[in-house]
Amino acid sequence: MAEAHVLIFPLPLSAHVLSMLKLAELLVLQNLRVTFLTTDTIHSRLARFGEIKVLSESYPTLHFKTFSDCNDEGDHPGFGDRIWDFISSVTLHAKPFLRDILLSHTPQIPKPSCVIQDGIFGSLSSGVATELNISIPIIHFRTVSSCCFWAYISATKLLQFQELPIRGDDDMDRIIKHLPGMENLLRCRDLPSFFRPNKEGNSTFESYADRSRQSLAADALILNSFEDLEGPVLSQIRHNFSKVYTVGPLHHHLNMRKAESNKGKEIPRFKNSVFQVDRSCMTWLDAQPEGSVMYVSFGSTTIVNKEDLMEIWHGLVNSKKGFLWVIRPDIVAGKHNEDRIPNEVKEGTKERGCIVEWAPQEEVLTHKAIGGFLTHSGWNSTLESLVAGVPMICWPYFADQQINSRFVSEVWKVGLDMKDICDRDVVEKMVNDVMVHRREEFLKSAQAMAMLAHKSVSPGGSSYTSLHDLIEYIISASR
Ligand code: UDP
Repeated sequence: MAEAHVLIFPLPLSAHVLSMLKLAELLVLQNLRVTFLTTDTIHSRLARFGEIKVLSESYPTLHFKTFSDCNDEGDHPGFGDRIWDFISSVTLHAKPFLRDILLSHTPQIPKPSCVIQDGIFGSLSSGVATELNISIPIIHFRTVSSCCFWAYISATKLLQFQELPIRGDDDMDRIIKHLPGMENLLRCRDLPSFFRPNKEGNSTFESYADRSRQSLAADALILNSFEDLEGPVLSQIRHNFSKVYTVGPLHHHLNMRKAESNKGKEIPRFKNSVFQVDRSCMTWLDAQPEGSVMYVSFGSTTIVNKEDLMEIWHGLVNSKKGFLWVIRPDIVAGKHNEDRIPNEVKEGTKERGCIVEWAPQEEVLTHKAIGGFLTHSGWNSTLESLVAGVPMICWPYFADQQINSRFVSEVWKVGLDMKDICDRDVVEKMVNDVMVHRREEFLKSAQAMAMLAHKSVSPGGSSYTSLHDLIEYIISASR
């Protein structure tokens, strides 16, 4: 019987890479062989922070392969408007490398017998396999929420019902009625950001919708979600896709399987980072009272303008709550230097806050001092907060974040949505609502969801079973 060898190929952006790397770890923990393909830049960043060494030493069946960067702007934050160009050029650029890798083998390592590609690449791998005249199972993995993926798939229907396109700023509060599984839930402003018209009055949603529909031709689909979180949307997806594996929340799933497989031995320390982690905030958190700190982080690519940064800061200070704020060196557009944080902020924060450039987020969220999370609602951050049972204030930036934040406030009821507003009084009020006035209510739903998340990745849980089924499928399809 041929050995199963999975090629995993994420879009070369931090959150996509880190999330698919967790899937890679889960597969090697189950004794599969995995080759992880990414760009030289991402690889060297992972290597700089020690991740490649730790992973290679821990897992002899995990291999890394790289290809050259196609665009020196890759993984540059704030490229919300230009991200489609980036995705399109990586898709074209990666093709010859993918072709080579699908044919390459050594006496020790067989050719890949299965591909798990980032679904955002659409028909890339199947096109290459057809050109090479090889038959290989191709699985698509989506790093966004299932509700976002389903909104892309449903775009055609929304066009038929004339619910799209969005007609401009005045149209933002119109309710979307015909999105199956989400009827009358979303306003136009809650659709993924690419549905919004840009300055020229165009939007790129049809490109995303088209790429998402290309996943219909894949052999299977993997989603970083779990049944109790997105059940109604997942049933809609299952009506359209023959094999759907929901294996999330991936970070928690991985932590659980690692703990099991190590049984007392040291767990490999994968820091989940392509940035330098500043652990000083953990010591600061240790000195704060329980549930007293608002954690503020907008992920790896959000850009904040200086005015908004100041509104958030004033709101945090006026709330009189402690806060831990991640301000990346490149968070303010065009400012990769010291003065991105005004002196007023540096000095004024000393009394009740702590600022770092990059935090060990998973660990921060489980610290007992944390009482809330002001987040950009990136899917990984949302899942990490849900698993930790931490209520959220959402300030979405782009992509799936607009729909994730709607789910946080209206479906899971684990926080508040501050979408499209940045005002110090609103920040102050929301911080106090989440941490004081409505604390019990949000904490109760957040802790209930955390229990469900935990159940899903425990033996017999939906994601646990789905991972088992996925592995069976990979092994049988690799024969
Ligand atoms: N993250 C981190 N430290 C930070 C900020 C973020 O480790 O200071 C991690 C976070 O835990 C999450 C990822 O970066 O896993 C961000 O992914 P997400 O999907 O939330 O947002 P994106 O970066 O794609 O906008």
